[in-house]
Amino acid sequence: MSYRCSICGSEMERTRGDYPFPEVGLKGVVLKDVEMLRCKECASVDAVIPRLRLLLRTLAEMLLIKRGLLCGEEIRFLRLHLGMAATEFAELVGVDKSTLSRWEHDRQLISPANDRLIRLVSHWLMNRQPREKLESLLSMKNHSDHACAKFIVEERDGEYYAEIA
Ligand SMILES: [Zn+2]
Repeated sequence: MSYRCSICGSEMERTRGDYPFPEVGLKGVVLKDVEMLRCKECASVDAVIPRLRLLLRTLAEMLLIKRGLLCGEEIRFLRLHLGMAATEFAELVGVDKSTLSRWEHDRQLISPANDRLIRLVSHWLMNRQPREKLESLLSMKNHSDHACAKFIVEERDGEYYAEIA
């Protein structure tokens, strides 16, 4: 089976090599020794990338454990990997949209606490934990209220049921 160049229409040949892949949204990604198609005429190169979703997930998982604070494009990569709009992600993390935008564009360094929060939120959602539970865990609707909760706890049939009064 032969492939045609999308730029000039000439025949392409199979080759292998290292392929920088900034299209993924991270400037530092290089795919090692991947199959590529190179145009015999104009030298344009396409990489053959099997299981792209798995590649994206692997990169996201690596970001969650990388040393040092997340940089702008890494925060953006995680957000897009989770399929979230800037507004909803900012709301979940508890910052306003303009702060998230400054982080993502490297105009403001993220704090270590917010860096941890983004990693935890991403880990939670990447592992298919329910979003509603996360939203109630992180609910900041009454964040000025510091009163300790009052619990009503009942034991029925070997289980405990608790309510916050
Ligand atoms: Zn070509």
